[in-house]
Amino acid sequence: MTLAAALPSHEANLNVPFLDLRVTDPTERAELLAAAENVLSHGRLVNGPEVHALELQFAARCNQHYAVGVGSGTDALIVALRALSIGPSDEVIIPALSFIATANAVRLVGAEPIFCDIGNDLNIDVQEIEGHITSKTKAIIPVHWAGRICSMGLIRLIAKPRNLFVIEDASQAFGAMHHGSPPGYGSDVACYSMNPMKTLGALGDAGMLVTDNGSLYDKAIMLRYNGIHAKEYCWHLSGNHRLDTIQAAMLMVKLKNVDKLMKDRRNIAFFYDERLKNIVETPIEHNYERHGYYTYTIQCEKRDALKYHLELCGIETKIQHPILMPNQALYLGSRGSWANAERLMQRVLCLPFHEKLTDEQIWYVVNSVTEFYR
Ligand SMILES: *Cc1c(COP(=O)(O)O)cnc(C)c1O
Repeated sequence: MTLAAALPSHEANLNVPFLDLRVTDPTERAELLAAAENVLSHGRLVNGPEVHALELQFAARCNQHYAVGVGSGTDALIVALRALSIGPSDEVIIPALSFIATANAVRLVGAEPIFCDIGNDLNIDVQEIEGHITSKTKAIIPVHWAGRICSMGLIRLIAKPRNLFVIEDASQAFGAMHHGSPPGYGSDVACYSMNPMKTLGALGDAGMLVTDNGSLYDKAIMLRYNGIHAKEYCWHLSGNHRLDTIQAAMLMVKLKNVDKLMKDRRNIAFFYDERLKNIVETPIEHNYERHGYYTYTIQCEKRDALKYHLELCGIETKIQHPILMPNQALYLGSRGSWANAERLMQRVLCLPFHEKLTDEQIWYVVNSVTEFYR
């Protein structure tokens, strides 16, 4: 898209939705329908050929040997933790800020999440990790918040000498790079969500885990469906975490078109950056990294008043997340520390950010934010 549109009039009062999940592109719509027709015809509705094809493409794209399609990003985390035999009496270090699934997956396998503070870039504060390590610590789950990859080199330096596993929660980081590598490089496993809100999204729930470790892959394949090997022998305790063939078919189409979509989103991000960087804190992208831009999250003063002002303008925004994971009822009293996360959660705001925004809508968001701080 081009962003050279004229300024809209101030009376415009457009509506700007935060997201728009309709499939409006006629070509993509036809491709999705054709892919669904194909599944109806071959009838292999579970573990169909599309699941395998998607896994191969996903692994190649992520520069990893293996990929395992699962039912959701939450499933990917659970399967990854179980595949590494993490369970009762183990501790797993996670950032205080994430979608609650990161903490819940740890609890669901019987382990205890230990909440680490975040840095000003909203990712886990690497300096704080070592202070949380005990003899029970088994793994670290860095979460690549908003699509920007954590300082993985430093995290590996902490994890490797202590034999801690590194499980990347890359749910928000599809397409992101760090020193030329996608999520998963040098870690034990990376987990992706492909729910409809994510940059690469299915038409329902879906997830993927990627790894270079062959035995972890073999175990994950069993854990994906009740811990069963060779159709009849149950070796591990697990549930049903399969990826539907129909969603894999939808994702094959989405994956084919995702580079164009990401380019459009980057253009919007750069446009916001240029016009907002002197007014609010815009997302960071250093020259050695490529931001995945899952959300466009700014940090600002008077956040609640800005949110209210934008709402009056018809612009929908979101705070991700107003309640930090350790402050949720389930986790009250947890060990850890997260003072900076508390401070930052008063400052973050996600602006409308998706490829269906028109030039006029994007200008309108910029002008409405600018007007508020004038
Ligand atoms: C979306 C998300 C998940 C959960 O993914 P689902 O597919 O909805 O289960 C986990 N972690 C993070 C960081 C996410 O953004």
